[in-house]
Amino acid sequence: MQNLLHNLNPEQLAAVTLPPQNALILAGAGSGKTRVLTTRIAWLIQTGQVSPAGVLAVTFTNKAAKEMLTRLSTMLPINTRGMWIGTFHGLCNRLLRTHYKDAALPQTFQILDSQDQLSMIKRLLKANNIDDEKFPPKQVMYFINNNKDQGLRASQVEAYDALERKLVELYQLYDDQCQREGVVDFAELLLRTYELLSRNEPLRQHYQQRFRHILVDEFQDTNNLQYAWLKLMAGHGSPYGGALFAVGDDDQSIYAFRGANVGNMQAFESEFRVQNLIKLEQNYRSHGHILDAANMLIANNSRRLGKNLRTDAGHGEPVRVYEASSDLQEAQWIIEEAKSLIAEGALRREIAILYRSNAQSRVIEHALFSAGMPYHVYGGLRYFQRAEVKHAIAYLQLMDNPHNDSAFLRVVNFPARGIGARSIEQLQNAAATYNCSLYAAVPYMVGKAGSSLAAFTKLIEGVRFETQQLALPELVKITLDSSGLLQHYANEKEGADRVENLEQMVSAATQFVSEEGFGQGAPAHLGPQASAAAGAQVVVADGVEIIDADAPLATVMSPLSAFLSHASLEAGDNQAQEGQDALQLMTVHSAKGLEFDNVFITGLEEGLFPHESSSKEEGGVEEERRLMYVAITRARKRLYMAFCQTRMLHGQTRYNMKSRFFDELPEESLKWLTARVQQNNWFSTGSRKSAWDEMPSVPSADNRLAARMNERSGASGGWRIGESVAHAKFGEGVIVNLEGSGANCRAQINFGSFGMKVLDLSVAKLERL
Ligand code: ATP
Ligand code: MG
Repeated sequence: MQNLLHNLNPEQLAAVTLPPQNALILAGAGSGKTRVLTTRIAWLIQTGQVSPAGVLAVTFTNKAAKEMLTRLSTMLPINTRGMWIGTFHGLCNRLLRTHYKDAALPQTFQILDSQDQLSMIKRLLKANNIDDEKFPPKQVMYFINNNKDQGLRASQVEAYDALERKLVELYQLYDDQCQREGVVDFAELLLRTYELLSRNEPLRQHYQQRFRHILVDEFQDTNNLQYAWLKLMAGHGSPYGGALFAVGDDDQSIYAFRGANVGNMQAFESEFRVQNLIKLEQNYRSHGHILDAANMLIANNSRRLGKNLRTDAGHGEPVRVYEASSDLQEAQWIIEEAKSLIAEGALRREIAILYRSNAQSRVIEHALFSAGMPYHVYGGLRYFQRAEVKHAIAYLQLMDNPHNDSAFLRVVNFPARGIGARSIEQLQNAAATYNCSLYAAVPYMVGKAGSSLAAFTKLIEGVRFETQQLALPELVKITLDSSGLLQHYANEKEGADRVENLEQMVSAATQFVSEEGFGQGAPAHLGPQASAAAGAQVVVADGVEIIDADAPLATVMSPLSAFLSHASLEAGDNQAQEGQDALQLMTVHSAKGLEFDNVFITGLEEGLFPHESSSKEEGGVEEERRLMYVAITRARKRLYMAFCQTRMLHGQTRYNMKSRFFDELPEESLKWLTARVQQNNWFSTGSRKSAWDEMPSVPSADNRLAARMNERSGASGGWRIGESVAHAKFGEGVIVNLEGSGANCRAQINFGSFGMKVLDLSVAKLERL
């Protein structure tokens, strides 16, 4: 028997071996929370306190779930395949598949990813003649998802004005449409499961009795519905239910904008009368300077639960800070530094480049591409999100559930088969008249449109019939051919990549079938009842028969259904798979929970990081600071920070101040790499590499060399570049450049929403801020 416990410090050991009671592990980044959670599962099983089937563990991403399963199988001699370890979405999908009837869903319900959800909302607005300028589809989507995350159905939302009443009405229309099509969005997966279990007592009791140990990672980012879901599962307030073991870090709560509620940590502590609260303060990830930077930064937040981090690792290298004249130069610097890291033996995949906004990646990607450095973008278009792959998936979806209108519309005329917009409009009218799906409305169509549409449904039914007895990979192969998709892309001049992606799907299906435990030859369409008999248990609770969603996916759905939900869930996950050895590019949000030897944090400019939207919201800057804390604490050995004076973003050049976060970092942990620049020569973007050199560490507040030169010269009447000013008409602004001297002195000032202005300083009335 492996000794699972020998690599733990005393606090970690205490946490892993707590008695089976509710517990909260509150600890900073890199202190081993995830390790403790995984080890606790292994220890509980190894000591016979719970069977693998009695554990429910929730992770934040599919990738994290996979890693946890892999870790467990190295720690224990058990098959982890059927274990209930996954994301909220993944676990809910599994429950709903098993109990689809009780949840009032069709057996073959499909999952809408956010792209599909948005296009359904657009269709809905159009069909109901609603002005999409007054009701922007994204805002409608946000309204719906937000309410679902709060556990509210349309009928439960209180509307205070006409606008809100309309939104509520749209919410209802949207839900009706989803029900008609047999599709569910991500938030619905949770809400539907929650409703199912709260209404169905025997089912609820069954799962409450079954899951003796419920463990949740990244608890600080649960939203209200997820917390309610956990409460239900843990049998809070009922005689049943197991122990809830939550690990989290309030300082890393970064999803408030998506409804996460860090207050859940306090709520959990009081509502569950948590006796076991353990803090872990030893950090095993980062060197001293990096940790000092993280600790000092986060100390600027109020309302913290309070904890600190220490390390035995020694100071290590100071954090290197670079001020670039432009975003292009920032990218060049990253490449130079990355090259020297690699020359020193660093692995490319141990170099992460983090940014606050996705839009920043373009310049960096371009520079990496030009330099011939392999890189991987997390959260970019993933395999299952690519257009050609989504087309192929749509054909498969129609075979599984022809009433999925999104899938229907995506491919009814793709590849082109002469079905025009007018025919589709007529079909949509018919569907509205007969209150049915587009597919079901086809027989009501007449004339040429009718026959082309009928040919399409015949195609779908034909393939379905032809593949009746075939396994999933063959079904995929035949679908790619019969749909005409392969041919279509093969005829395209630059379609080779797309053809390759489509062919990849056959391999993806093969791999999926074997990983999920379907027999290699299992017919793709075979319904779950047939296989359920072979695997899932039927249990009786209070005289009611319950099919227990115990075993792998194979027992609750057909290979095709399972593959399709896998595709939707993967498309929604923001993380990437491991791949070749490449630099890792990602937003700070998607870096949560990960670690790298070397980390670059880019774009540390006011308005970008902290993001400008944060100043408008209460607590906004604190959330940005937590995000910065997450970014810093991803690094093990080396940390780099960069900011630019000018940046092209959304087609506009912005002039920037460095981020306020620099003033919150310990100077002795920073090493400024500063430019020897000429006065007034800031905004040229040409390469001046030779002019850039390492300077000894200088105080952060003073690092603007050019500004200091300006000040000393006294040429501009005491005004300084970087200074904040107010103007009667343009409001607050920042001086970004100064020209001339004496009576001719002019300042270039960035007035935010009023844009950039050049003002004559002898005339303009400016106030210092
Ligand atoms: P985050 O808040 O970023 O999610 P975390 O608290 O979950 O971090 P882990 O990822 O579990 O931290 O651990 C951080 C690193 O420290 C990992 O590489 C882990 O293997 C290592 N580690 C944790 N505990 C120990 C220990 N007792 N001895 C040696 N290494 C450890
Ligand atoms: Mg973790």
